[in-house]
Amino acid sequence: METNYRPTKAIVDLSAIDYNIKKLIERIDGARMMAVVKADAYGHGVLEISRQALKSGASILAVATPDEALHLRKNDIEAELLVMGAAPVRFIKEAIKHDINLTAYSMEWLESAAEELKKETVPLKVHLKFDTGMRRIGLQPEEADAAFDFVVQQVFRVEGMYTHFATADEADNPLFLKQVETVNAIKKKWQGGPLMFHVSNSAAAILHPELAFDAVRTGISIYGIAPSAYVKREMPFDLKQAMSLETEIIHVKKVKKGETLSYGATYTCSEDEWIGTLPIGYADGLIRGLQGQEVLVRGRRMPIVGRICMDQCMIRLPEKFPTGENVQLLGSQKDAVILIEEWAEKLDTIPYEIPCILTKRVPRQYI
Ligand code: PLP
Repeated sequence: METNYRPTKAIVDLSAIDYNIKKLIERIDGARMMAVVKADAYGHGVLEISRQALKSGASILAVATPDEALHLRKNDIEAELLVMGAAPVRFIKEAIKHDINLTAYSMEWLESAAEELKKETVPLKVHLKFDTGMRRIGLQPEEADAAFDFVVQQVFRVEGMYTHFATADEADNPLFLKQVETVNAIKKKWQGGPLMFHVSNSAAAILHPELAFDAVRTGISIYGIAPSAYVKREMPFDLKQAMSLETEIIHVKKVKKGETLSYGATYTCSEDEWIGTLPIGYADGLIRGLQGQEVLVRGRRMPIVGRICMDQCMIRLPEKFPTGENVQLLGSQKDAVILIEEWAEKLDTIPYEIPCILTKRVPRQYI
């Protein structure tokens, strides 16, 4: 039985997911949306987000690993599925059985997959992935002819062709245009029949709807987070952050001027201070670098003071507050809001990382 006796929880607003997806679909004007739900839907909870995404108009789901794809199938999600990462060829049998599209990302993979397919009677559905500048996985552009010849002779069914942009979220990066040019040239060579051509992540789908082609692969934007500050500035519509993080004050005390708080005694009260304790710490994803980050209580900002512990942390209150008082660490309270981007800036990272670092111990609740 699942239990939850702690007030700390991440609330995921499915109406925000619905809103973001519908805005993006309007933007891409007829192209299909592949909702990127890898990494437990960027920490939001893969089953609930996948179901909502399909309800809101996405028609394909994209994950990173074979296990993520199987998890969806085992939970009765029947939508078209693409594994974007490298799947070992020993997964092919399962991929065929569960109708999962795999990414063909190198000649070596294609050759071993063809060997494995000798044991099968049904073709394997693949999307051919080209590396046009990301240098992560993908067939090299000069391998296109060989790859095309190879796949049409073997038991593959080529469903799609794609690439991934390295700099779509930046202003005028020449690599972006070069990648577009390269992938278009590769596509022109393909003579093997209809396929789904998809190149755009969130940044490209938002800023370059003319590159939506047959489908886009949008992740971060469906969760209501802009891929970068540049994209946020240039966006023709707004997004709604779906995730908020909340807890309650569980203990309140006055700490005297000159006394210290928490491990290492690194924070000294400069006057008599009201200090509240929150039941959330680095084992929940409130990592120690967030010391000093503000939280919201009654719509007002208050700082996390002293070192963040594994399960708890302290905040400085302007006055005595009762225990049980709601605290918002992410999201809005009254007229105030703390965006995921604010944590990312504090931690000198990208917003993508923030929902992913909230650990499993924090229950996700859906509204
Ligand atoms: N396509 C691929 C291959 C990816 O790896 C990712 C995410 O990293 C995406 C699409 C989605 O990108 P974004 O979350 O920026 O929309």
